[in-house]
Amino acid sequence: MASDYDEVRPEVKESQESSLEALRTESTPDARSVVRELDEADTVDGVDLPGDFIAEELIVEVVPQKKDEFVCSSCFLVHHRSRLAKEKDGHVYCIECEG
Ligand SMILES: [Zn+2]
Repeated sequence: MASDYDEVRPEVKESQESSLEALRTESTPDARSVVRELDEADTVDGVDLPGDFIAEELIVEVVPQKKDEFVCSSCFLVHHRSRLAKEKDGHVYCIECEG
């Protein structure tokens, strides 16, 4: 029975495979399905990239500006109208920035 010497011992091989599998599933859970999708995309017109998700994340939620508030052109914070110190060329500055 010398045939086993060239082979990695079964229990070692198994632990290597399971740890690799663990790494794979841990870092990229959908790696296989993504690869499969990419392969399909090569043969199908109209590649469906997940661009919608990226675009949604880039959208900054805009808080409606109230009439008695303004955005300072220096610190870009929203201040109450009473804190407006200076208005120049369409830009407004708060009292904190104008001191
Ligand atoms: Zn300011």
